[in-house]
Amino acid sequence: MQLEVTTVNPPATHMKPRTSADLQQRVRAKIRELVSELQWPIEVRSSEEPVPTITCNPFRKVHIVHMPERFGLLDALHEVIHAWLCEKVHPIFGTVVIDGQTEESTLTLFMQHESLYTCAQDWFVDHWLIHWFPEEYSKTLKAYLRVLKLLLARDPGALRTDFNMACPAGLLFAEVHRAGIEAEVPDQVWDMYDSFRRIDPSRPSAAAMLELLNSLADQLPRYGGPQLVFQLSTDKEIHNLIIREVETCTVPRSASSSRSAR
Ligand SMILES: [Zn+2]
Repeated sequence: MQLEVTTVNPPATHMKPRTSADLQQRVRAKIRELVSELQWPIEVRSSEEPVPTITCNPFRKVHIVHMPERFGLLDALHEVIHAWLCEKVHPIFGTVVIDGQTEESTLTLFMQHESLYTCAQDWFVDHWLIHWFPEEYSKTLKAYLRVLKLLLARDPGALRTDFNMACPAGLLFAEVHRAGIEAEVPDQVWDMYDSFRRIDPSRPSAAAMLELLNSLADQLPRYGGPQLVFQLSTDKEIHNLIIREVETCTVPRSASSSRSAR
């Protein structure tokens, strides 16, 4: 198995793809290799979304992939890595498995900040795209940087006020640096960026994922969001995710506005 979860193995060789057909062949081979190691069946459904998505269900032990008519092979590989991590490491890498102990109101708050969970997962998933296909994935990252620049030109304050913009931006800069691309991290997302960089994505574990989730969640109140705490329940065979909302003390208005000015 090439997906090493305990140590960092450098790729045996990084053959430079001579043609895009060669690259496609290598990505297809990696997809086939990972899929061959999965135990649960994969159900493929059509999707109107621009990119593939996956739902890994540890209760039914099935992966449901939603595929658009046209899709990028690296996007497809990304979803297969979710499935692999879900089966081989922990369900926390597959989809959101919520414990019955989570209040509905807390779930609603969590869903409003969905990028928190998807970005935390993708830090561990995309590590392998950088590791296996550094040249091709670097092109993708550079394209994302250009898109971010365009978005910020339209709304310069978004990184300071919108958690669902800032969290993916923090992930993007962390991945950009991991891929060896030079880019200056905007001050507004430095803490977010730092949360990702402090967790080693080449060693995926439920503990590392929880540490990242809670580090990102610590920053929610600065964006006007709730203070959430993530933990795993330990009383079941599948260690489900529990999200709790923490009661926060009231911050005086002046102190609150000076904090949020960062
Ligand atoms: Zn993902």
